[in-house]
Amino acid sequence: MSVYQHILLAIDFSEHGIEVASKAKSLAKTSQADLSIVHVLDNIPMPDTSYGTIISLTEDSDNELLEIEKAKFMEVADQLGVAQANRWLIWGAPKQEITELVEKIQADLIVVGSHGRHGLALLLGSTANAVLHHARCDVLAVRLQDA
Ligand code: AMP
Repeated sequence: MSVYQHILLAIDFSEHGIEVASKAKSLAKTSQADLSIVHVLDNIPMPDTSYGTIISLTEDSDNELLEIEKAKFMEVADQLGVAQANRWLIWGAPKQEITELVEKIQADLIVVGSHGRHGLALLLGSTANAVLHHARCDVLAVRLQDA
């Protein structure tokens, strides 16, 4: 039996997200593990702003912005061949939702990037750090180099 049976990939669509996704996919393949994917909707960067403005996303937000996020999520999930039942696009605070979801679906490994939108200057971003501290399963933080 493989070390891991069910891997949860957390994605935030940041610059190096695809690197994190492809490592999770390879790991799932070699481990013959199920692969689930989660993106937590909290806020999204405004396009075409050089200073990285973000806006809060709520259930009442402009549908167009939401549709863009959903489409990006489905595209990545399709590329990775993730089953429909293993796709989780949920509202809330990323660190909390990710640690709760991993228990709900009984995944035994979470794969995150070492940093994403919230931790560019850090060795470990705030979401990655919180998941590492609070998840009851193993966590793989894929080390991302700054561009
Ligand atoms: P951060 O710690 O926020 O810089 O992001 C580190 C990693 O946490 C990212 O590379 C993702 O793997 C994950 N992550 C951050 N935000 C989210 C989110 N909203 N939904 C899912 N995963 C996330």
